[in-house]
Amino acid sequence: MKNASVFTPVNLAMRARANAARYPWADEIRQTILQQAEPFLRFSEDELWELMFGCTISRSWMVWSNGYCPACKGDVPMYNWQINALEHPWKVRCPHCQAFFPKNDFYAFYRSGLDEHGVFDPARADRALLYNLEHPSPEDPLHRFGVDDGEGYVEGDKRWRFIGAYLIYGQWKQLVLGGIKSLAAAYVVTGERDYAHRAGVLLDRVADLYPTFDFGTQGLVYEGRGRSGYVS
Ligand SMILES: [Zn+2]
Repeated sequence: MKNASVFTPVNLAMRARANAARYPWADEIRQTILQQAEPFLRFSEDELWELMFGCTISRSWMVWSNGYCPACKGDVPMYNWQINALEHPWKVRCPHCQAFFPKNDFYAFYRSGLDEHGVFDPARADRALLYNLEHPSPEDPLHRFGVDDGEGYVEGDKRWRFIGAYLIYGQWKQLVLGGIKSLAAAYVVTGERDYAHRAGVLLDRVADLYPTFDFGTQGLVYEGRGRSGYVS
């Protein structure tokens, strides 16, 4: 059992706290760290635990590497889709027309598919939830427009992996990794155990699921197989 910090020796943490109390420049750094951690204090512990996802949805570095926006048709190649997981969870945004994709409530669909271990199982998920929220009537020609079941929105031979890319840049890098880093840093500069505990909840859940990740067999880069890695 670990009972002291491995990454930050106690004397360095104490010095950082003393500096923040004494010097404006150090206090500024401390304030920035606390601001970055603040959003993660708004999650309940269960919500933090649930941020980590399983390996059962294909992850993709690109929505579509040489693609465009299905709404405005503007070019949105590579990493140009905007992702802000704290403000707009489970969505990516077109940098031209600001439209959000996918158009379905993916989180509702995701939750409907969680198994007893809290891992998404596509076979369990309720496909009746896969419709465009702005066009709820089944007779509406746009009823299925922009809808992603986790494996992309498909139009003929085109596929937009909105959720696959969101998982890497939003859910993983911004929420799970971002949360761990921000909370850990806030603990170092304050010594408040709540930050450390919350980082621990996230880390514990990552540890549960990390061994199931293999980017080489599960992930996609440029619409082809990934080579190696874990989550991304
Ligand atoms: Zn657009």
